[in-house]
Amino acid sequence: MAGKLVSMRNLKFLLYEVFDVCTLTEYDYYKQFNRKTFDMFLDAGLELGTKLMQPVYEEMDRKPPELVDGVVKVHPQVRRILKEFGEGGWIGARFPVEFDGEQLPLQILSACNLIFCAANFSASAFPGMNSGVAHLITSYGDDNLKEKYVAKLLSGQWQGTMAMTEPQAGSSLTDLNTMAEPTDEGFYKITGNKIFISAGDHDCVDNVVHLMLAKIKGGPPGVKGISLFVVPKKRFDENGKLVLNDIVVSQVFHKMGYRGTPTTELSIGENDDCRGYLVGDEYKGLSYMFQMMNEARIGVGAAAAATASAAYYAALEYSRERPQGRNIAAKDPLTPQVPIIEHSDVKRMLLFQKAVVEGSFSIVMQCSKYEDMLSVVSDDEEKEKYALLLDILTPVAKNYPSEMGVHSTSQSIQCFGGYGYCEDFPVEQYYRDMRIHPIHEGTTGIQGMDILGRKVLMKNGKAFSLFLEEVRKTIADARDCSELKIFAEELNNSIERLQEVTLHLIGIAQEKGPEYFLADATLYLELFGIITISWQWLLQSITVDKALQNELSASEYNFYQGKLYTCKYFFRYELPKIEGLAKRLMDKDPLTVEMEVNFFSD
Ligand SMILES: Cc1cc2nc3c(=O)[nH]c(=O)nc-3n(C[C@H](O)[C@H](O)[C@H](O)COP(=O)(O)OP(=O)(O)OC[C@H]3O[C@@H](n4cnc5c(N)ncnc54)[C@H](O)[C@@H]3O)c2cc1C
Repeated sequence: MAGKLVSMRNLKFLLYEVFDVCTLTEYDYYKQFNRKTFDMFLDAGLELGTKLMQPVYEEMDRKPPELVDGVVKVHPQVRRILKEFGEGGWIGARFPVEFDGEQLPLQILSACNLIFCAANFSASAFPGMNSGVAHLITSYGDDNLKEKYVAKLLSGQWQGTMAMTEPQAGSSLTDLNTMAEPTDEGFYKITGNKIFISAGDHDCVDNVVHLMLAKIKGGPPGVKGISLFVVPKKRFDENGKLVLNDIVVSQVFHKMGYRGTPTTELSIGENDDCRGYLVGDEYKGLSYMFQMMNEARIGVGAAAAATASAAYYAALEYSRERPQGRNIAAKDPLTPQVPIIEHSDVKRMLLFQKAVVEGSFSIVMQCSKYEDMLSVVSDDEEKEKYALLLDILTPVAKNYPSEMGVHSTSQSIQCFGGYGYCEDFPVEQYYRDMRIHPIHEGTTGIQGMDILGRKVLMKNGKAFSLFLEEVRKTIADARDCSELKIFAEELNNSIERLQEVTLHLIGIAQEKGPEYFLADATLYLELFGIITISWQWLLQSITVDKALQNELSASEYNFYQGKLYTCKYFFRYELPKIEGLAKRLMDKDPLTVEMEVNFFSD
């Protein structure tokens, strides 16, 4: 299988024309880069994605990991992928030079990640986890932890994991039961049971490093009692030799998609001999883990957008080649059939996919830009601004691509008709692989409560105000472009509606309490997401409008016109959906709160 995964033209449009990533090279931290070196990373990323990961996309799905005699066997290509990602510096690409990293801007790395995830999401998860785990250890771990674990993770010799979920504690981490008992020897004894741990163990690495949440015995109840530990599969003994650390894989889950990565259940400390090493301070585990979770949430959005992209290009290619039917006005059955892409309804399905994919790529890049700015600005106020913008946009960047990616890949299947439902084409796998994204790293419901219950209110609404300021800047710029004026006004009306809805809900919070306030938080997030992606489409279109003033080659003209039409599509077909959502959110009938559980009777 060697279909197109992403549009490199679109990635370069976002990086160089919309977000102007090269301005970062004016800062000391990034001064070693230029457009040419950025392009080299993109080319190398495309090479890795298409030559190393895409060829085993289907095979990793058809032959999923197995637990054989206590060993988790994964596709052998995983070893090569980890090795090449490690040796090629990809796992540590974002890290500072002191950790042997490249200090690569996140925008460039995100573009490469979009390629990797489009090529093979399961395969991309192995090195991706390592990067997140190593980043957390370098941020909060002591020198001993950094020395022992970081280099092995960045080189891909060892596997990193994020071990939070337990059978009774998925969305509700307050209910974690894994315990950590302090000893006099500087380590903690860990006992418990974790489920759904991605890459929790496998036979392509020598060791596994779990970043594990646990409660210290005797500590405060609830989330305040949670601490973070490094818990390796094999620990160093007093002679510096690696010995087993009493963690057993008790099952590998069988899943509908994302099947190349083993999702494992772990039994920890059954023989009372599992040692964990505290990261940072006691009881601060959840706040530390949020660093990794926030990165991972934007990573999930990126992965969803990437899979939707691969599915879209498969559907586009098929729609250009599949003859079926004639123009509705053509009466003569002897005229040849037309390719289905000529039917307006198929164009609508393709426009929907293009709008979701390129709108989602754009919000991922926007967040990456804020993250890059955070690493170079020194002024406290500016730092706070970028941090708050990231805070408020993280649930959106996770959720919009994930939820809409499910619809988008479904529409890819629809373009294929019956063939889309069969294994002859890759879209059924893209659809199955996509379905995890609204679930892991915090379900859609949890993201909804996060944005409405925390992010919009935080710092007296400062993050929300900063977001509105960013959107208003784009609206002001778009008002200068004759073709975009109308969309600028529509977006302006939408953010006024968003404010109206937000104030109404805050009123409900004060009047009736949190249950009523948050009952429809998921719908609020949906509304917020559509407005955010409209903003991203308008932002892209300002660049498009300028480009279309110039003499262009046919392919460039088509590229920019395609952008403009997709922006129009978004404003004409997607943005109006906020009206239905706003109407419901302004409605005072607390239907879901008052519907009694018993009423779900037969
Ligand atoms: C393939 C896969 C890989 C995973 N990888 C990892 C990993 O590497 N590490 C890790 O730690 N975990 C991992 N997970 C776990 C994942 O993060 C959880 O499945 C997820 O957080 C949801 O938890 P849960 O499954 O217990 O569902 P539940 O929390 O039981 O949720 C079920 C439903 O109820 C809703 N719900 C729950 N609580 C509330 C509430 N208070 N208010 C409103 N609605 C609510 C949810 O939104 C959801 O729709 C993985 C899961 C899968 C399936």
